[in-house]
Amino acid sequence: MASGTALIYDEEMTTHKLLWNDPICDIEVPERLSSSYEQLKRYHLVERCVLVPAREGSEEEILFVHSSEHLEVAKSTQTMNEEELKRVSENYDAFFFHPNTYRCARLAVGATLQLVDAVMSGKVRNGMALVRPPGHHSQRNAANGFCLFNNVAIAAEYAKRKYGLQRILIVDWDVHHGQGTQYIFEEDPSVLYFSWHRYEHREFWPSLKESDYDAVGLGKGKGFNINLPWNKVGMENSDYLAVFFHVLLPMAFEFDPELVIVSSGYDSGIGDPEGQMNATPEVFAHLTHFLMQLANGKLCVILEGGYHLKSLAESICMTVKTLLGDPIPQVSGEMAPCLSAVESIQNVRAAHKPYWKWLTYEDTSFLENLSTKSHLLKKASSNASMEHESKKTNSNETVKVEKFLELHMKNTLLPVPPIKTATTDSTGLAHFLPVPLHLVKDMDKTEIQALVSGFYADLVKEDETFLSLGSMLPILDKILKKEVRNGIAASPTSAVSAAVALRHCVRFGLQRVLCVFVGDMQIIPNTEDGKTLIIHICEKEHFTFLLKNVLLLLKDAEGNDFFSAVLGFILPVAYSYQPNLTVIAVGPNRNLEISGISLLFALLQGLAESRIFAVIKDTEINLMQSVAKALVGASLPHFGAYVPPTREKVNEMKRLRDQFQQEWKMLQCSGKL
Ligand SMILES: [Zn+2]
Repeated sequence: MASGTALIYDEEMTTHKLLWNDPICDIEVPERLSSSYEQLKRYHLVERCVLVPAREGSEEEILFVHSSEHLEVAKSTQTMNEEELKRVSENYDAFFFHPNTYRCARLAVGATLQLVDAVMSGKVRNGMALVRPPGHHSQRNAANGFCLFNNVAIAAEYAKRKYGLQRILIVDWDVHHGQGTQYIFEEDPSVLYFSWHRYEHREFWPSLKESDYDAVGLGKGKGFNINLPWNKVGMENSDYLAVFFHVLLPMAFEFDPELVIVSSGYDSGIGDPEGQMNATPEVFAHLTHFLMQLANGKLCVILEGGYHLKSLAESICMTVKTLLGDPIPQVSGEMAPCLSAVESIQNVRAAHKPYWKWLTYEDTSFLENLSTKSHLLKKASSNASMEHESKKTNSNETVKVEKFLELHMKNTLLPVPPIKTATTDSTGLAHFLPVPLHLVKDMDKTEIQALVSGFYADLVKEDETFLSLGSMLPILDKILKKEVRNGIAASPTSAVSAAVALRHCVRFGLQRVLCVFVGDMQIIPNTEDGKTLIIHICEKEHFTFLLKNVLLLLKDAEGNDFFSAVLGFILPVAYSYQPNLTVIAVGPNRNLEISGISLLFALLQGLAESRIFAVIKDTEINLMQSVAKALVGASLPHFGAYVPPTREKVNEMKRLRDQFQQEWKMLQCSGKL
């Protein structure tokens, strides 16, 4: 698996600018690029990236998705005077030409293709291209919404032709609908296009019927166009995350893309005058982190919109930091999606039920009783305490947002622990691991003796467990002190070791420790102090009981249908809980396959500032090797052919969701609460 992050930027793309007064177009300014690049430099991110030069996209490449008429018009503007430029611009909805626009647009296309080449050739694992003009509104025969050529669509077509790709995922998290991209690929099943966008029941630009959730694609492309309309402004981090958990990620894992391209507009971030949403910059770290788990890490992020310069720059920095593999900051705000977002989620799921295996058993019977009509929503929202207040941007608000961003980023920029993954070599474990890890010295015997008799005597009965603590606790201490990010320990009795680890964390002062336990537990750790949450994944009948704060999930090891449990249940509960540390323990008779457990490790690194502690049954050498790779970030699990969940499992997930969604609100994915 390749490593490294590419960054593509060419100052010349700041020469495209508006030459006359136009209150609609005047927000698309050159400083969007230059100030974002400055911020990347300030955070020392530029020097950590592989700098790849831009190039001009060729005419042939532009013609992959555009008509020759469109290309000729664009080309002809290079020699026009201002009057002529203005006249030709007026032929389009929200576009302006400058004599250098054509050159910049070709650079934007070429920069995007350079990134695709860098990622597909294995020169880097992922990367970001800062480009202007943006692309996702641009259509076969028309400029539109500040976009001349559709950079991302050309890139997808290029990847298909040059690298023979058959499955490309485009994630468009810009706050506007990329209708241009939708039109280009709506009949093409090889490109899965996902867009969320401010819609407000068709009130918001571009106010198209085909931007709604029921536009699922045409002909052979049916099911490969996913529109998630935001019918209110003021959407928050939890709304964005809920859409990833309950719509995009399950689709994406079933689709199994070979390349992921992001139409990365940050007008969906806080403070943006276009989007009027309240998502804060660090949410883009989380969204990026999730997409990095697909396509063996091949991820190309291409700039689209974003008009609040500070919000834009910070969000870009969050994205690039995450691409580089830095710890993910804790996401801020209440973890509960609003009713309007949940309604959109259920509508998309219902509309796509015929086309996706994971939705085969989706219960849509209640849909006819619900409506997304705005007057009904207003009525509903007056009763719903969790509904967000919509905010209109005014000057006071702008000042508040500026201040918020400044403070917020200071708190969000985490120091990166000097060491990523630690283990010990007492049992010769490190010798078997495929990647070099940092080795921590074992605790000496008298020290463990004192610790155990002082705090853990009721848990530790056997000598072999006692001995394994000598290597486990020093690793855990390093994680707690933030000297290392994550660690892996072997144990003969994982449940006992996990119980000791949990109590150790609470003694250290942590308030919320999440433990995901896979397999049989010899003892159930005490959770009565309310500072630990255990999600137990097991299949044996006699384990189906429930303690305070302990969830039990029945599951058989069968192919890779763990996606529904991991994405639809564990991830939402974990995000609702917002732990300070995650412990993942694996005992005997585990009922998740290695790839499923590795996926857990990969995804849960989004929490607790990426701090994870692994306790694994000492006989599971293969599993430890995979987990070590997942923790270091050296490789992603391979899942094999997609196996959809059985009806029984879907029902079980639904039962659990119904049972716990009042407490763990990120589980909510239907308006029927
Ligand atoms: Zn936009």
